[in-house]
Amino acid sequence: MIAEGTQYPVGMTRRRWIADEWNDTTATLTGDQAVHLARVLRAQAGQVFDVVAGGFLRRAEITSVGEREVVFSLGEELEMDASLPVHLLMAVFKFDHLEWGLEKATELGAARITPVLARRTEKHLAQAAAKRVERWRKIVREAAQQSRRSDVPVVDDPLVLKLVVPTVEATTKLLLAETEQENSLSSVLASQPVSELAMAIGPEGGWAPDEMKLFDESGWRAVTLGPRILRAETAAIAALAVCGALL
Ligand code: SAM
Repeated sequence: MIAEGTQYPVGMTRRRWIADEWNDTTATLTGDQAVHLARVLRAQAGQVFDVVAGGFLRRAEITSVGEREVVFSLGEELEMDASLPVHLLMAVFKFDHLEWGLEKATELGAARITPVLARRTEKHLAQAAAKRVERWRKIVREAAQQSRRSDVPVVDDPLVLKLVVPTVEATTKLLLAETEQENSLSSVLASQPVSELAMAIGPEGGWAPDEMKLFDESGWRAVTLGPRILRAETAAIAALAVCGALL
């Protein structure tokens, strides 16, 4: 039980952490998070933070601070802010741009991101993607924490496009395509109730014709973000901003 009136640390107001380990009564930060909290922010027993543990946001008081481990006692449950019900399929493209896009997609609320290996994903990037996925999970975790999300988006292992497309189960499935002239993302979202949305964003070279056909045959509908050709990461950000406004 956290005492009435216990304060958040000065200068760290409402800072939020996502626990690495937890049980019913305690939560623990380990590794880099613990080092940051202990050494950089000089955390001390008795300080109170918000901690996400087991899918719930709780007030939590530090009970011990070690070199690489900070333990909290869990208190009252706090209201959670929901992520957008959006599953993003992002073709793998230049890693620095993709990683920036992953960070922004997390800030904007995407619930799940599947990196896909498209026909026009550069070969060396496709080969290196599997080794990069842990870094991508770290990026979204840090972005979730920084943007005060209560959850961390799931980042799937990278998969070949043709294996992913037919398996996506969202009720609404939209293919972002600069070649689409009529249906805009905003008009589609405004015209129907959308409970679960999947959106696919292509690589720098765009979708190949056989990929467009596969999407079409699997029930995906092409939508445009307007007349300009956007970089893939810009398209992801613009699309999620539209979703944030309309969903
Ligand atoms: N190959 C294309 C070209 O050079 O004409 C550009 C592809 S664009 C850099 C990468 C991806 O961003 C596209 O596959 C699409 O998913 C998305 N995209 C870019 N501009 C878009 C727009 N105006 N509407 C919808 N999607 C767009």
